[in-house]
Amino acid sequence: MSGFSSGIGPCESSSFEGVRKSRHAGASRVSDSVLVVEDEAALRTTLSDRLRYEGYEVECAANGDEAFEKATKLTFDLIVLDVVLPRRDGFTVCREIRKAGLITPVLMLTARGQTADKVNGLKIGADDYVTKPFAIEELMARIAALLRRAPGAPASDARSRQFGSIQIDLRGTQATRDGVPLNLSAREFQLLRYFAQHAGRTVSRAELLREVWGYSADAFTRTVDMHVASLRQKLETDPKQPTFISTVQRLGYKFNPS
Ligand code: CA
Repeated sequence: MSGFSSGIGPCESSSFEGVRKSRHAGASRVSDSVLVVEDEAALRTTLSDRLRYEGYEVECAANGDEAFEKATKLTFDLIVLDVVLPRRDGFTVCREIRKAGLITPVLMLTARGQTADKVNGLKIGADDYVTKPFAIEELMARIAALLRRAPGAPASDARSRQFGSIQIDLRGTQATRDGVPLNLSAREFQLLRYFAQHAGRTVSRAELLREVWGYSADAFTRTVDMHVASLRQKLETDPKQPTFISTVQRLGYKFNPS
C-alpha cells in the first residue's frame, strides 16, 4: 500500500512496526489490512496504533471522500467506518463502495442509542457495528471475528449451488438471482452460504451467531434477525412472504432448497 501516506497523512503514527506481534504464529499468511475511517484525530491514532500493535497493516482516512478513494483504489481485508464524517457520511461511503462492487467487510462506528442507524447500516451493506463509546478490546474482538469469517476463507465443500432461481458460488462471494448479482454484503453472503450448506435443516440464532459471526455469547441474537431481514430483502421475490428463508417459531430459521 502506498501513494496515500506520504508526508503527514491521517495515520500520523507508524512507530509500531518494530513491536508488531504475529497473530498468525506458524502461518505464512500476510497481515490483514484494515482501513480506519475516522475524522477525530485522537481516536484515529488510538485505533491505528492498537491495530498495528496487534499485527494489522493499517491505512487511515479522515473524511468520506478519502475513505471512498482509498477503499476503491487499495485492497483491504476490513474497513472500520465512522458514521459521522465530513464530506460524505459513513452510510454514503458504505453504500457507494458496495455499489462499486466491493465486498470487503465493513464495521461501522455508530453513536450511542442510534438503533435506527444500525438498521440503516444493515440495509446499505455494513456487516457489524460498535457503538461509541466502546472498549477497544470489544472493537478488536469484533474485527477479529469479522476477519475470521471473511469471504475468501476456504469452504470445505467448495462449489457453486443452485436453489431455484438463486445461484450461490460457495467458494467465491457471489450470489445471483436469475443471473442478476444480489449485491450482498460480506456478512449477508456468509449467512446465505451457511444457510445453503445446511439447507432443509432448522438452524438456531445461537448457531448462526457462533458459526457465521464467531460469537460465543448469544447476547446479539437481534443481529441475526436484522441480517436475515436484510438478506430476505435481496433474496426473496416477496420479502414479506419468504420462500427461501422461513422462520421456525422459537427455534430459528430454515433455508428451503426448493
Ligand atoms: Ca466522526
